[in-house]
Amino acid sequence: MTKSTKQKRQHQHNNKAGKRHAERSGQQAAGKKRPTQTDIGRTASEKSYPVQLNQVVELKITGLNHEGAGVGRYNGYTLFVPQALPGEVVTAKVEHAKKSYGFAQLQEIVQESPLRVEPPCPVFHRCGGCSLQHLAYAEQLRHKQQIVKDNLARIGGFAVDGDGAVQVHPTLGMADPWRYRNKAQVPIGMEAGMIVGGFYAERSHEIVDIEACLIQHEANDAVVATVKRLAGRLHIPVYDEAKHTGLLRHVVAKVGVKTGDVMVVLITTEAFIPEREQLVALIRQELPQVKSIVQNINHHRTNVIFGEQTFTLWGEDVIYDYIGNVKFAISARSFYQVNPVQTEVLYNKTLEYAGLSGQETVIDAYCGIGTISLFLAERAAHVYGVEIVPEAIADANRNAVLNGIANVTFAVGAAEVVIPAWKEQGIRADVIVVDPPRKGCDEALLATILQMQPERVVYVSCNPSTLARDLKVLAERYRVVEVQPVDMFPWTGHVECSVLLKLRGADE
Ligand code: SAH
Repeated sequence: MTKSTKQKRQHQHNNKAGKRHAERSGQQAAGKKRPTQTDIGRTASEKSYPVQLNQVVELKITGLNHEGAGVGRYNGYTLFVPQALPGEVVTAKVEHAKKSYGFAQLQEIVQESPLRVEPPCPVFHRCGGCSLQHLAYAEQLRHKQQIVKDNLARIGGFAVDGDGAVQVHPTLGMADPWRYRNKAQVPIGMEAGMIVGGFYAERSHEIVDIEACLIQHEANDAVVATVKRLAGRLHIPVYDEAKHTGLLRHVVAKVGVKTGDVMVVLITTEAFIPEREQLVALIRQELPQVKSIVQNINHHRTNVIFGEQTFTLWGEDVIYDYIGNVKFAISARSFYQVNPVQTEVLYNKTLEYAGLSGQETVIDAYCGIGTISLFLAERAAHVYGVEIVPEAIADANRNAVLNGIANVTFAVGAAEVVIPAWKEQGIRADVIVVDPPRKGCDEALLATILQMQPERVVYVSCNPSTLARDLKVLAERYRVVEVQPVDMFPWTGHVECSVLLKLRGADE
């Protein structure tokens, strides 16, 4: 029943209490903090918890948290054990302890779940990108549906089973849940005389070299491999983070999944690239799909990838992609959804929930580059989009022109300020769509929605707990009709939802 020695050893190498490389799998701003040595020292010596640091405990795993870590109890104390699955009995070493919960590192699987699968990626145990490659895909989808239900029940106080319950549908997954990411951001360095690029090893800035990332589009893997090889051949100095010397620090690759267009972004510490013409010519020759080669200069000592200056070395400034029929221009710096296939699934559901006939006025709050606004515009009389980042609104306006869409108005500002102002100006909405960041909607915005009383609200959410909290507020006037979870980030704990709310009295 115990795992093979090889697997045990792999688990001992694994440590995911803090994921350094979360962005690669779409876990931006997951807010996960790595325990520092100081935290660990303090919690160990000054406080008495039911567990001691470095203690190896045996426990039964009963659930998964939203980051995909196993959750179990040891003498009533909650422990998170990354890579352990519900139903398993495991031994785990306590690494970090807080008052009400702690983190422990998986040591040995005493009783294995039948749902456990062998992770296909050889660096799964070291990379922070994926957290659920050891769980069968169908089970992951079921788990994500359950997470949504649990949050709606626990935080929102909603009934999720039985008569009159909020209908939470099974998660819409991908037919092929691999190679879905359209953007790679890879640090470059030197290891034993070889140029390496991949991800940072846990708790260090040591770069682990990888040739293939199984959730990354093949075109992006090819860009990274080619640039590494050419930089070596042309003796382009690579960045040494510790000494803050060298030139090439990151390669960013983007692909338009529907068009096949590829963009290469070279992030360097200074403008001058030796053998630049040769480098550009060879990239073009070896990667014919490349439509744009861009340089960005970042001379700061920082973990932030991009610097302020960007210029095009060859080709166009942008590449293009489509979501549905809407064409998007993607520049080196512009935001774009990283899983366009599932984005289309999510937006189609959002469009269906909006129930448009062509006569409606729609407000799209937290509109980003206007993806949802433009997607809905074809079926609405007018769409108003609001977003706080000015560059995103510039992209939204550009994309409206690109598609010849005239019935949209975009505004820069906080949704909770701009939408009340629109209300004062007499703008009425039949449908309000919100797609807020992880922290959810501002209270003032929810209050405004309750006053404006659009017939429908469609809430698109990347965080089931803030979703549940906000739905509880809206439930004062709205009936939460149905919830559709969509798997935008397979092999991670993340789940996205589109939710239909109808004004009470309007439909019953
Ligand atoms: N709907 C877009 C983006 C959603 S992400 C899409 O599908 O692509 C959430 C967006 O909310 C981000 O672009 C962020 O910049 C923006 N944002 C954050 N706080 C905001 C606020 N108070 N008002 C308006 N936009 C905000």
